[in-house]
Amino acid sequence: MDKVYLTWWQIDRAIFALADELRKNFMPDVIVGIARGGLIPAVRLSHILGDLEVKVIDVKFYKDIEERMEKPLITIPLHGSLEGKKVVIVDDVSDTGKTLEVVIEEVKKAGAEKVKVACLSMKPWTKVVPDFYVFRTDKWIVFPWEEFPVVVRE
Ligand code: 5GP
Repeated sequence: MDKVYLTWWQIDRAIFALADELRKNFMPDVIVGIARGGLIPAVRLSHILGDLEVKVIDVKFYKDIEERMEKPLITIPLHGSLEGKKVVIVDDVSDTGKTLEVVIEEVKKAGAEKVKVACLSMKPWTKVVPDFYVFRTDKWIVFPWEEFPVVVRE
């Protein structure tokens, strides 16, 4: 699969764009970040939007590029109640959309009153189109936090 590389600069601009959209259309009470890929955008959004609470859920689905498990598995469940809260779920990318499907269900089970999804990117075939997103690509995205120079030590 072809790859596309996003830079920190592109990501930061994208997060600010998401923050603007959220401020205008859906100012949340709580952010639910999906580990690992959603955590950096979730924390950044929390600071930009005024120190919003961030809750974490960890869902494992991919073993490798294009190699998925049968279904997403929750490895860190949501902690505490979301009773009556406006919640935005944040992830890096909605690919099949299955991870988001699972997380939306969990957030509703925790009592959230309103739920929206914000992702940096989405794939054209996803079954969960995020309410807010910036990039749309059919390539495998490499995020800047996944890339690092190899340091050779003597
Ligand atoms: P989905 O459940 O929508 O198929 O996959 C969601 C998760 O798989 C994302 O949160 C992300 O961690 C991983 N993923 C899917 N597509 C990509 C991609 O193109 N690049 C990266 N880095 N991760 C991806």
